[in-house]
Amino acid sequence: MESSQFVVSTAEQAVAQQRRLVTEVPGPRSRALQERRAAAVAAGVGSSSPIYVERASGAVLVDADGNQLIDLGSGIAVTGVGHALPAVTAAVAAQAGRFTHTCFMVTPYEGYVAVCEQLAALTPGEHAKRSILLNSGAEAVENAVKIARKATGRQAVVVLEHAYHGRTNLTMAMTAKHHPYKNGFGPFAPEVYRVPTSYPLRDGGLSGTEAAARAIERIETQVGAGAVAAVVVEPIQGEGGFIVPAPGFLPALADWCRQNGALFVADEIQTGFCRTGNWFACEHEDVVPDVVVTAKGVAAGLPLAGVTGRAEIMDAVHVGGLGGTYGGNPVACAAALAAIETMRAGEYAARARHIEQLVLPELLAAAKAVPAIGDVRGRGAMLALELVHPGTTEPDAGLAQSVARACLTEGVVVLTCGTFGNVIRLLPPLAIDDALLEEGVGVLTGALERMGR
Ligand SMILES: *Cc1c(COP(=O)(O)O)cnc(C)c1O
Repeated sequence: MESSQFVVSTAEQAVAQQRRLVTEVPGPRSRALQERRAAAVAAGVGSSSPIYVERASGAVLVDADGNQLIDLGSGIAVTGVGHALPAVTAAVAAQAGRFTHTCFMVTPYEGYVAVCEQLAALTPGEHAKRSILLNSGAEAVENAVKIARKATGRQAVVVLEHAYHGRTNLTMAMTAKHHPYKNGFGPFAPEVYRVPTSYPLRDGGLSGTEAAARAIERIETQVGAGAVAAVVVEPIQGEGGFIVPAPGFLPALADWCRQNGALFVADEIQTGFCRTGNWFACEHEDVVPDVVVTAKGVAAGLPLAGVTGRAEIMDAVHVGGLGGTYGGNPVACAAALAAIETMRAGEYAARARHIEQLVLPELLAAAKAVPAIGDVRGRGAMLALELVHPGTTEPDAGLAQSVARACLTEGVVVLTCGTFGNVIRLLPPLAIDDALLEEGVGVLTGALERMGR
């Protein structure tokens, strides 16, 4: 696939796909860096796993003390193809050697066009599409809202309870959770309206269509159907807790949008690029969004995001109305093209389904043994455990934090999430070896069995 020159140079850097601890975690060098950091880095940037990474490859992180950790977080669903994949690092190095920036708004280049062609081909729906590339997920969500407002001539943006759309001013307004995302950062952008979601564990057994009817009633009575530019939805809610809506919820919302002249915008930033077992999570229910927002998994760790929509919607914006200095940076585009080719050739959507088949039974078995596991859910390689006080649905955030910390000390990086902070989420690289994945999940279920009684 790659020239032997690249294989040789990356082979030197490749890390054995093994967990191996040589100090306590975090070790002395990570602790020293943490002290240096406190004197230089703003306190508002947190790190859930304070081990300092020196290199990484595949599904293994090597920290400053030489410990090798299994990465079950992929930098929050970004490095789905694995760390330092030779095809990606070669493409990045080659592009960096050609040029690193011209600004697409000044003198354009092919990579940007090629990524937009891929986005058109891969996102749901056979209609004509156009895309714009940006730097971050939040910036892409902001642009999706700009485009939706311009295309519809309407202003209201409808979002869901438990939603996460980013940390900029508009996307903070769209994000549900107060602390830490919004606490003290107001005033927030106007014309953002929050309606109930479908959260099977916590909404008293509503079906998907019942939950959609509840959301729609709220829109019609409190926002006004004719005012809505867009309904923005994560097809599986990410930071909010890996909440998989009951079947029928997403199609009913999309239908309502179609009937009422509002745009159905899918925020697939965390769910996209094979993560859930399809290229995009909307495909599980055959939902075709008007606009799809992508980021995270698209470019194997380089900052890139996209907004892809129906041609007539995207082209409703006047020339010069969209853009940004770095959006669609050529090095990031090169990484995206290599990552997409890797996912396509390696059938990464099928790999995600394989991961679900491997891991879900282990999580369900753990749930039988551990009364604190209140729910097991997810799709593909986006799986989660919601922790509760046994016999109730009352969230146990403390347990989620201590289990994640216990995994880290044993050399496995797992992330938490959830409006209530009580969800353990798994986002392994799709490229992870079965044995390594099972070892990592075994550490997690072991910790739960010890701590979740
Ligand atoms: C991460 C995320 C965002 C924000 O992306 P950034 O690149 O961090 O700005 C928005 N929406 C969803 C669903 C996300 O998971």
